[in-house]
Amino acid sequence: MKNVIITGSTSGIGLGIAREFAKAGYGITFNGLEKNGEEIAAQIAQEFGVKTIFVAANLLKLEEIKQLAEKTFEAFGKVDVLVNNAGVQFVSPVEDFPEDKWRLIMGVNLDATFFLTQAVWKHMKERKFGRVINITSAHGLRASEFKSAYVASKHAVTGLTKVLALEGAEFGITCNAICPGYVKTPLVEGQIKDQAKAHNMSEEEVIQKVMLKKQAIKEFVSVELLGKLALFLASEEANMITGTSIPVEGGWVVQ
Ligand code: NAD
Repeated sequence: MKNVIITGSTSGIGLGIAREFAKAGYGITFNGLEKNGEEIAAQIAQEFGVKTIFVAANLLKLEEIKQLAEKTFEAFGKVDVLVNNAGVQFVSPVEDFPEDKWRLIMGVNLDATFFLTQAVWKHMKERKFGRVINITSAHGLRASEFKSAYVASKHAVTGLTKVLALEGAEFGITCNAICPGYVKTPLVEGQIKDQAKAHNMSEEEVIQKVMLKKQAIKEFVSVELLGKLALFLASEEANMITGTSIPVEGGWVVQ
């Protein structure tokens, strides 16, 4: 049985990815700040007949990041796949951007991605197999106003993905990023409200005129599609795909 750690998997995209891995028979380490994490992990275990654990690690704390890896080794004896998915967002013009929000976004989106990867890296090298999948964003490849910290953090992970691809190459480890356009999750629901304030628009106007404006296909991306792509990147067949950032954004970054 293969296994995967998915950060931020008790909500939104992470949970969608977890469901696709569970369908494919993977053991799963769930993680996230949601209070019902244990229940979600137990429910997926029951629904798909796979082994799951939940680790309530706060990814802002290095000790807890290490525990997330260690508890996975204890439960499964290995880590085949790591999906760095947890992420946070805050929208504000540069001059008003609060220091604590800048540090929070860098801490979760960038620092935790590096430190959790580091916590499983030696093990993956020794086993000569590993898959690291970073959920970045179209904002890992393009910028939007009012998202300085988010865009900076996601571009940084795009770069980190390339370095991991190079360092992992001779050890059977691949690292790729998936760059979603807009997906209707709690993170985006919050942004719709913040953007409405920043742009002085109604929420519906923000969806049509700001969010989906940049996508050629004016639809939200589904979590199922992102899960299926992550599952493919995790497979043995995807061994020659590494260092890439794959846009799943309805034709945004071609412009
Ligand atoms: P979400 O808010 O639904 O889920 C985020 C998850 O991260 C939650 O489980 C949350 O508990 C967890 N998390 C946040 N801070 C944490 C911390 N300190 N420690 C542990 N867990 C923490 O958001 P989502 O939309 O599902 O986003 C998932 C990823 O996809 C993020 O990296 C986000 O940047 C990226 N993304 C989302 C969209 C979108 O439109 N929703 C688009 C592009 C990229």
